[in-house]
Parts: sequence; structure tokens; C-alpha cells
Amino acid sequence: MVKSPINNPEFPPLTTSNPDSENLQQAMESLHGETVFPVPNSDYRDIGSTFMYRTEIDTNSEDFHRAIDIGGDEGDNIVATYPGTFWGYRNYSGAGRTVRLRHKFPQSFTYKGRTVSYFYTWYSHLNHEGTEPIVANWKEKETEISSGQLIGKMGQSGETKVVHLDFAVRIGTNNSLRFQLCNPGSTQWGFEPHIHPMILYTPSSPSPEPSLSLVSTANGNLRVRYITDRQQPILNRVETKILQCNSTNPIVVKSHTLDLNLREGIVPPGTTTCPPSGWLDNLDKQKPHFDPIPFGFNASRYQTEIVVPSVWLNANSLSRTENTLQIEVVDIWGSRVSGRYQIGDAPEI
Ligand SMILES: [Zn+2]
Repeated sequence: MVKSPINNPEFPPLTTSNPDSENLQQAMESLHGETVFPVPNSDYRDIGSTFMYRTEIDTNSEDFHRAIDIGGDEGDNIVATYPGTFWGYRNYSGAGRTVRLRHKFPQSFTYKGRTVSYFYTWYSHLNHEGTEPIVANWKEKETEISSGQLIGKMGQSGETKVVHLDFAVRIGTNNSLRFQLCNPGSTQWGFEPHIHPMILYTPSSPSPEPSLSLVSTANGNLRVRYITDRQQPILNRVETKILQCNSTNPIVVKSHTLDLNLREGIVPPGTTTCPPSGWLDNLDKQKPHFDPIPFGFNASRYQTEIVVPSVWLNANSLSRTENTLQIEVVDIWGSRVSGRYQIGDAPEI
């Protein structure tokens, strides 16, 4: 059961709108006039690891990276990305020395049934000697910070062997979903607060369009390669659909969505108990999923493969020749690139 690409699709892309995505995009766009990149000496090309599944540099183990890593030199200035309030300076075992800020949205918005008025930025792996004098006289939850104000110095504190800034953005609450579930006394927001930090910035332009290409159909697994320019590491969502196309209006007979910002297709619905660390980020590899991207500051582009496993394709005899497989990859701004593949008996590639 193998597929081949369809170059001239006879039907338009199926678009799904999601109010949470739209509200989030709108809220983040409203900040763009005042946001600055947290490392003035670096830019998007220095992002070594984006908000994505990745393989670790030493252990080759997979994790979901809930931040962006920005490369630079020890002691480089780190600045506030948006006006806000100093929310603390701590030493975490993994993230090392970390400055946290809280920021107010110009307008509150609804996200996953909650009213969101604030977001938080986390600046991790800082150099303690350089950062301590900067924050020494600041009062937690009081001191006002302006956009672009010096808040720390780059380092490699915590669990890392590379000098870089780990920059994370959390909306609504500072508390991860796991923390909420394991601490029933805390406010229950019911969602993971980490979102793609690049959503703070206007996409750099002009930029090459991302591309999708079929790379393999071995063992009945479809593998499609997504490539994007290094300045645009903003991949967020993949929608996979099987369409019945023997009529003018194709019918969706099966679909799967994986959305990193919304955690759609990642956190199992109805999760209410305290899970083991990392469990909430587990990808279901029986369903369409991303291959992790290796950590690295040197590549000129980002690429990942989207895997549609044969077990998902073959269930319920969906691999019939009148069906078409459609994959759409969507970035944090809703821009799409899609591919369509005939399901049938073409030779394996
Ligand atoms: Zn990181």
C-alpha cells in the first residue's frame, strides 16, 4: 500500500479554523510594535533549537523543547522582550540561573475557556556573576522593566554544555500543566502555558517558502520532508486527512491534527491525574507525527520529516485507491504548505 504525490489537485485545501489559535495570534500581533529579540548581538539565524520535538546533543534522547535556544558568547547582554514587571531570579537544576518577567496584554482574550491577561517570559542558563549585580536591587513583583532593558548576561548555568539563552514564553500562568495537576491547590488553568516564542516577532521577510516533498513510502509508512529557512523556525501544526474523492465534494474519512502551541494531539484529552515528568509531551507514534530535529547552531535550514505510519493509514481499510491523503503543515501565523498523495499500488520509493 503505497502512495505517489498528486501535482494538480482537483480540489482546494481544506482549512480548519480554530478560535483559540486565532485569538492567540491576534493577541500576540498586538504586541509587535514593542517586542525586541532578547539577545541584541544575535538574530533568528542563531536559534539552535526551536519550539519543537528534538534530539538532545549528547544522549540522542528525544524531548519536546518548550522554548527557543539562542546562541551567542558568554557575557552577551540579555534584554527584556517587552515592557513588564520583574517576576523573580532563581536557580533551577535544569534551567540554571533564570530571570522571569510578567507582561500585561493590551487587551485580555479568551483562550481554552479562560481569560488571559498576562504572559511570562523566562530567560535561562544565565551567567550568575554577570546577572546578579543587574537584578540585585530589583523587587520581585514590583520593579517595572522596559522593553529592551538589560536584565542579565548570557551563560551556561544549569544542565547545558553550550553557552546560549533558553528563552520561553508562557501565557496566562507560569505553572506548567503538570505542576497544576500535581498541585491541586494551585489555580487550575487546564492547559500547558508554553507557546512558540517566535510568535512575539513579525516573521522576517522576504523569506523562502517552506517546502514539502515525499521522501519515502517504505514499509507502507509515508514520510514527507518539510524544509524551511533558518530564519523561519516557526512550524507549529500538521493536519493529516484521508479524503474520499469520488465525488465533487471530498469527504474527510479520517483526520489527525498535531498542534504544538495548542498541544492538540499531544496531551491526551481528559488528563486529570499527576503524570510522570515528561509524560504529557509524549508523541503517539501510531499516528501522524514529526520526527525530532537535532539540536544545532550550524545548519542553514530546518528540516523535519512528517511520518504517517502504515498502522494509521491501513486501519479500517482506508488505503483504498479512491482515497487521497492530504497533509497540511501550518506555521504559527497560519501560513500553510500542503501535499496530496494518491493511495494505491505505485512502486515504493
Ligand atoms: Zn532550551
